[in-house]
Amino acid sequence: MDFDYVVVGAGSAGCVVAARLSEDPGTTVALVEAGGPDDDPNVRVPLATPELFGTDLDWNLATTPQPGLAGRSVTWPRGRGLGGSSTINFQMWVPGHADDLDTWAAGPLWGKEAFGPYFRRVERWAGEPDAGRTHGVDGPLWISPPRDPDPSSAAFVEACAEAGLGPIDGGLGGSPDSGAALTPLTQREGRRWSTADAYLRPAADRPNLTVLTNAQVHGVVLRDGRATGVRLADGVLTARREVVVSAGAIGSPHLLMLSGIGDPDRLAAAGVEPEVALPGVGQGLHDHLVVDFVLRAKGGTRFTDLGPDARRQYDTDRTGPFSSNLAEAVAFLRADGGDGPPDLELIWVPAAFDADGAPLAGRTLGVVLLQPRSRGRIDLVDANPATPPRIDPGYLTDPRDLTAFLEGVRFARKVADARVLEPLLDGPLTPWPGDDEALGAFVREHAETVFHPVGTCRMGTAEDSVVDPRLRVRGVAGLRVVDASVIPHVPRGHTHAHAVAVGERGAELIKEEQ
Ligand SMILES: Cc1cc2nc3c(=O)[nH]c(=O)nc-3n(C[C@H](O)[C@H](O)[C@H](O)COP(=O)(O)OP(=O)(O)OC[C@H]3O[C@@H](n4cnc5c(N)ncnc54)[C@H](O)[C@@H]3O)c2cc1C
Repeated sequence: MDFDYVVVGAGSAGCVVAARLSEDPGTTVALVEAGGPDDDPNVRVPLATPELFGTDLDWNLATTPQPGLAGRSVTWPRGRGLGGSSTINFQMWVPGHADDLDTWAAGPLWGKEAFGPYFRRVERWAGEPDAGRTHGVDGPLWISPPRDPDPSSAAFVEACAEAGLGPIDGGLGGSPDSGAALTPLTQREGRRWSTADAYLRPAADRPNLTVLTNAQVHGVVLRDGRATGVRLADGVLTARREVVVSAGAIGSPHLLMLSGIGDPDRLAAAGVEPEVALPGVGQGLHDHLVVDFVLRAKGGTRFTDLGPDARRQYDTDRTGPFSSNLAEAVAFLRADGGDGPPDLELIWVPAAFDADGAPLAGRTLGVVLLQPRSRGRIDLVDANPATPPRIDPGYLTDPRDLTAFLEGVRFARKVADARVLEPLLDGPLTPWPGDDEALGAFVREHAETVFHPVGTCRMGTAEDSVVDPRLRVRGVAGLRVVDASVIPHVPRGHTHAHAVAVGERGAELIKEEQ
């Protein structure tokens, strides 16, 4: 089969790219997705998100044992199916701090001024106008305030103020340096609103858009330095103009390496014939870590008894505990207590679960390291597309990361001890670790991913970047990467917003060259 464009991966960015390119009826587009449709009823129900992990909608990956995490390997869910990770994520819409965009070293196409407006272009804010009117209102992606937040989430925002961190009153789209707020969500009327909902379904009737599911791409076909199509298990799809790889921060470098694009020595060691020497592929992996503290809830929570009444309430008017995305409120702060963009985040979850996912009578306060210095890499294990790549995020290998983490934990403790939370909380489930050594050990033994990998096909003007500022793979004609993997540094926010905005920008760059 022949198309003008073949887009690999129907995730946060890939759905945007395929929908935007197929707006021109004279252009044919194939969107090729390894996973299946997103028709599991749990996809729509915010509280059911964890139920999706380990299902067919999840690649269910894991890191290598991490020396910085006491030798533990960390589970890495990644979306697999229409919508990609936006179909299984926690729906938090947190664009973070726009100053980040000026650090990307990718030239005039991507700074705060040039790229910042793409976040608003994506958004359809469903709440009251926020004070700073920081969200867009006529984009395809519905962004809603929490529909029926747990009362403890507002109390958390007050507790942050008591600890010295006031509310963010301009709106979370406004690059706040610090402060606390309820989390804006990618939901429409209490249901998840993925990029498959926002971009793909409205384009479904276009005769020039072909969506193939359960079709894992095994390699990019390269001929005389040009990408001419992609290889599936049972044939080849030809791309007359371009192949666009939107397979995510793990899938995209994996696919490039399977196609012979990467570090020649490492490729050869994995049994792949090197075609294009691009040593940066897979390097520069950058991710957020979180460490959670469980606080005992006085008198239980509405998440401990999720009987048929709670489910009926959700089915009737989309309120109650089933409408919760769990991560209902956030706060941003700096480890040094000074002014300027934040490097730590707190996440408030009005529920708590044990290691097996059973509900506890508790609340969870997470501390996120927003600007980690540690970096890792992704490598091929072998030439079989079914073998997951080796994921080594290098968590906490830079000692400065643990120091920043400890500041965050100390602030979290102040918040947990705030007077306003006294009626709701009954102390930590396990005592707060005492001195820095105990605290450090606790972090190493308990930190987990926040699911935000980026950087593995880094964009930039420098020759050692994987893609140039127009997102073209260096050294190959007709091949781009458009997804979270091109983002050079993990943002001071959450990466779904960035992946969607990169999708919009990438599609526009492609259209400009038609
Ligand atoms: C559990 C979880 C919770 C998260 N929570 C949040 C949150 O609340 N807020 C937030 O901002 N971010 C969150 N994130 C992160 C955010 O969802 C991702 O950063 C974002 O979705 C990445 O978009 P992407 O387009 O780069 O990749 P993805 O959305 O992962 O899309 C990649 C797609 O490519 C497909 N694919 C991969 N390889 C191939 C291949 N060889 N052939 C064909 N198809 C292929 C995959 O199946 C997938 O559909 C979360 C992520 C996870 C996993």
